[in-house]
Amino acid sequence: MVGVAAVWAIATAGPVSATQQVTVIRAARVLDVVTGRLLRDRQVEVQADTVVAVRRWRPVPRARVVELGTATLLPGLIDLHTHLVGDIQSASPTAPLESTPEDDVLIGATNARKTLLAGFTTVRDVGTYRGLLDVALKRAIESGQIDGPRMSVAGAYLTKPGGGGEVTGLPAGQVPPPPFRMGVVATPAEAREAVRRLLEGGADFIKVIATGAVLTVGTEPGEIEIDAATLRAVVEEARRRGSYVTAHAHGAAGIAQAVRAGVRSIEHGSLLDDDGIALMASAGTWLVADIYNGDYIREVGRRDGWPEETMRKNEETTDAQRRAFRRAVRAGVPIGYGTDAGVYPHGDNAKQFRYLVEHGMTPLAAIRSATIEAARLMGWEGRVGAIVPGAKADLIAVPGNPLADVTVLERPFFVMKGGAMMRNDQ
Ligand SMILES: [Zn+2]
Repeated sequence: MVGVAAVWAIATAGPVSATQQVTVIRAARVLDVVTGRLLRDRQVEVQADTVVAVRRWRPVPRARVVELGTATLLPGLIDLHTHLVGDIQSASPTAPLESTPEDDVLIGATNARKTLLAGFTTVRDVGTYRGLLDVALKRAIESGQIDGPRMSVAGAYLTKPGGGGEVTGLPAGQVPPPPFRMGVVATPAEAREAVRRLLEGGADFIKVIATGAVLTVGTEPGEIEIDAATLRAVVEEARRRGSYVTAHAHGAAGIAQAVRAGVRSIEHGSLLDDDGIALMASAGTWLVADIYNGDYIREVGRRDGWPEETMRKNEETTDAQRRAFRRAVRAGVPIGYGTDAGVYPHGDNAKQFRYLVEHGMTPLAAIRSATIEAARLMGWEGRVGAIVPGAKADLIAVPGNPLADVTVLERPFFVMKGGAMMRNDQ
């Protein structure tokens, strides 16, 4: 809490249309993530859905004014690794088959709202078991039917049959129904076809499951699941269609193979070795490592009786991932903020900032990974991720100074998305 009430100064003369109306948001500090400077006594001026100016406090005729007192204003945060649709945290591996598409999308709407109110105004949503439901959720948000973050979506997981992106653990001989298999491929030709199907279906990028997964029973994080030729076909087809590929990859060999095939980012990167780090640093491949949620799985998985196999794989990857992350940061691998929200409760996305700082990043670098750097990875630079004229007016305010204590990002009390106030509870 800041203890300063919002002040609404209404136009003094003549009517002002909604599109002309300027909103002035004043705070003691504004974090400029482009220069890394903390600016004092600034105001951000917003018209319609766009930032039009950032300058020292001064009166603006006929503007409405939001006073945020001693708070720090930052760009809306970006989580590069979420799963908003459906419920993916469960003791039962086959649970995704038991819900309906309607259930999954409605759960997604609730998750989207929680994410937005937690200060994350943009997400890159990296996969849903039932294909293309993320596209429906994204469209509902874009058309204003429901509140949620801006979304860039994967459409489905591109995975081998029975791989880390499939619903596994079914009785022998049983295969999930077709909506769950939109991204299941066995050859380079099938992979190209799946890329086409997903991008034409509304996906923004391709998520390939390059190695086994912690949460998918019967798969091993250290093992390669997609061969080099198929990976190259996926990357080539996505590029040809103006898109890009990110690879879920835990094991060192799988990571190296994905980087060489030309993926833009590596998700998880748990068992990344020094060769892989050097490869990523020289290729400029992003690391999106979910270094918070291992602690959540450790605690809740044990309490709720998650499969023994999942708990073992979590132990094998959590600490190793944090060590690899620290080395990658030191080596200059570009870092994007991604948490695997959905494995832990949506809305807790900011809990990872503390872990990034504990494992080698400065608070400023951690914040940049969730703002301007994340926007760069997505190809959305200039649109989101920085408070600059011409960008979308996606802003959050937190109490105190996040460069002194990054955990204040867990407590945003003001959230604006595209000029619309989603939250202001001071
Ligand atoms: Zn994930």
